[in-house]
Amino acid sequence: MSCHLLVDAKPITIPVAKTKSIPMPILIIPLIVGLIFATPELFAQQDVLYQVSTLDALVSGVFEGGTTLAELSTHGDFGIGTFNSVDGEMLFLDGFFYRIDGAGKVRLADMGEKTPFAAVTFFEADQSMTADSCLDQEAFFRFIEGRLPSPNLFYAVKVHGIFRSVRTRSVPRQEKPYRPLTEVVKTQPVFEFKNVTGVMAGFRCPDYVQGINFKGYHLHFLAKEGAGGGHVLGFVTDRVTVEIDRTDELRLKLPADSAFFKAGLSSDRTADVSKVEK
Ligand code: ZN
Repeated sequence: MSCHLLVDAKPITIPVAKTKSIPMPILIIPLIVGLIFATPELFAQQDVLYQVSTLDALVSGVFEGGTTLAELSTHGDFGIGTFNSVDGEMLFLDGFFYRIDGAGKVRLADMGEKTPFAAVTFFEADQSMTADSCLDQEAFFRFIEGRLPSPNLFYAVKVHGIFRSVRTRSVPRQEKPYRPLTEVVKTQPVFEFKNVTGVMAGFRCPDYVQGINFKGYHLHFLAKEGAGGGHVLGFVTDRVTVEIDRTDELRLKLPADSAFFKAGLSSDRTADVSKVEK
């Protein structure tokens, strides 16, 4: 099968600090006006990856958190995660929280629901490229990788278009006492999509993030018109557009509850994370 790529990548613009001095009153007046009219969203940093809890805590069975989706939405409009009691996979797109439940059904989540683990940002593409080809997951990631400015930064990744195939999983709601996620995923429902239109959203994290989040790519899928989705296990592209948002600031909110306080987080869970991811 022959494959070729059409690439239309926009360079990342790096802001340059202005050195010319400006009289103090001219600086202060707009600042005061801005403070009066600013909303919380305007205060929020656009290029910050805001994360609730750590991956190792989730993997070890910390399945409940105190952060509501409403609170999460003040830190972004895009992201992935899960819900309390790991009640399905979360995909946060254009300000809407979608739940792909254990049966593969897609519903909008209530803003009062809480999450034990999620990562969000305000998505603003710095780069855009088209892959007009049949690339499997590994080839597709290599395609993106060659166009990133550095492997040492965080990137929000949005892939939309037509896929020849997508394989996903979701996790059914768990009951207490919670088992480690490695046990839960042994019986995970898996869903197969063929020649499907949809969107994948997620993050590409650097290798040194191990313990806090997935290193490499972590994507969730939503099929067109909510026909299914889930945590992406594998795929082959047909014609897709990839948008990349470079995110060079990480903000981590740790749970303030006893389950997190008592979680055994001193051991290396690399092998467990690998099982959960796949
Ligand atoms: Zn996932």
